[in-house]
Amino acid sequence: MGLSDELAALLGPSGWLTGADTEPYRRDWLNRYGEEPLGVARPATTAEVSAVMAACHAAGVPVVPQGGNTGLCGSGVAGAEGWVILSLSRMAAIGAVDRDSASIEVEAGAVLAQVHATLTGSGLDLPMHLGAEGSARIGGLIGTNAGGSQAFRHGMMGDLVLGLEVVLADGTIWDSRRAVLKDNAGYQLKRLFAGSEGTLGVVTRAVLRLTATPRARQTALLAVPSAEALVALGVLLRAEAQEFLAGMEFFCELGLDLTLRHVAGVSFPLESRAPFYLLVELATTSAFVPLEAIMEGLLERAMEEGLVSDGALAASEAQRLAFWRLREEQPEGQRLEGPQLKHDLSVPVGRIPDFLRQGADLCEALCPGVRINPFGHLGDGNIHYNLSPATGAADFRGMEVELGLSLARLAQEAGGSFAAEHGLGRSKIALADHLRAPQERALMRAVKQALDPKASLNPGVILRPKQKE
Ligand SMILES: Cc1cc2nc3c(=O)[nH]c(=O)nc-3n(C[C@H](O)[C@H](O)[C@H](O)COP(=O)(O)OP(=O)(O)OC[C@H]3O[C@@H](n4cnc5c(N)ncnc54)[C@H](O)[C@@H]3O)c2cc1C
Repeated sequence: MGLSDELAALLGPSGWLTGADTEPYRRDWLNRYGEEPLGVARPATTAEVSAVMAACHAAGVPVVPQGGNTGLCGSGVAGAEGWVILSLSRMAAIGAVDRDSASIEVEAGAVLAQVHATLTGSGLDLPMHLGAEGSARIGGLIGTNAGGSQAFRHGMMGDLVLGLEVVLADGTIWDSRRAVLKDNAGYQLKRLFAGSEGTLGVVTRAVLRLTATPRARQTALLAVPSAEALVALGVLLRAEAQEFLAGMEFFCELGLDLTLRHVAGVSFPLESRAPFYLLVELATTSAFVPLEAIMEGLLERAMEEGLVSDGALAASEAQRLAFWRLREEQPEGQRLEGPQLKHDLSVPVGRIPDFLRQGADLCEALCPGVRINPFGHLGDGNIHYNLSPATGAADFRGMEVELGLSLARLAQEAGGSFAAEHGLGRSKIALADHLRAPQERALMRAVKQALDPKASLNPGVILRPKQKE
């Protein structure tokens, strides 16, 4: 019996899809990657995942785990014809909230927004919020070690994982679902899987750490005269309100312009424009904290110090959401403008002004007139440094690779990373060839070899297949 028949017998008609039924799973979110798979396996239990992995391992057929398929680096779809896509979409159970331990156990296919919905009213929150939360699944969020707008406060997805159940390449089930933070009984194995992009094992369940839901919020949108002022504002906010900071998201004038022009239903609440904008959110779980007075005091200080030229406070929940929408629609505004180059970089926060200046210089030198739209997370220095062609130009004049490499190198030289929160996937493997230190590559290769010696899990993601290095 061939592998396809074996998987069909194992999983039944709703668990094994072939032909046209695989269509919705084939291509990645940005429609850049995805070869025709042998089929899509949709197991319903950990035991079924294990059986699928064992069968594929025995047949020598590569497997790519897939969650919500919102990844931006092309790592959740087949890298070559004939692979098996392993979708976790049928394993979406969400356990009861453990209020005493502030944790929850979920299956890897649970959609992030559904986990949030389950927590509504419990007084607890999973502090992972991102634009794709209506589709992204817990296994995918762990697979990419997703960041989002609260990473600077609560950490990235891997920091929210207490325990994990993982199926390894040969079908072995490793169950470490311990609902405790302190667990130093040896190597931090669970950490290996956060950000491993489906190359070391298939996450099937996770015990996640929760935080108290804020009772009150204050949200402001501020016009900021320069990148230096942006950084200084971050320092002021941390110094005066660290424990209340729940968001520090920035975008720039070009991004605002593109969003207002292309995205329906967004509006700009300030009277004047500026080079940068900062969305600041303070939140508290206490009824006794005078959050409004803290925000007003902060804004007064920021105005006095010349760090802010204009600002508005959200007066209602609807206005708060409208402010957030302006930030979250930045990628969409640029997408609707036409071709773009996306770069997901990070630098130490204090280096942001230098990075932006030097980045602008090198972009102008490589591709005159190219339009730069940096936006992102001030709290952790993660910059989405996205480019649109010069006004009137159709493309980047063949400079795409050079632009990507130069910007990545600049971020690395500034002490940052060329792959901040979206991962490496397939799309940044060439960058990694240039920028990853040989020792680091060797360590990663050793980890891959230990966990997946036959390279049957998502080959070509994070590391090139051995023979191609
Ligand atoms: C509109 C939009 C906004 C976004 N905003 C952010 C943001 O703010 N911050 C951020 O970090 N990312 C962001 N992303 C990127 C994306 O949402 C995240 O990378 C997310 O974590 C992917 O989850 P997913 O379930 O869609 O995973 P997929 O795309 O399905 O998979 C991503 C990777 O994880 C692996 N994987 C999937 N499931 C498992 C599993 N069960 N076990 C092991 N590996 C697995 C896959 O093989 C693949 O390598 C955004 C994407 C979009 C489209």
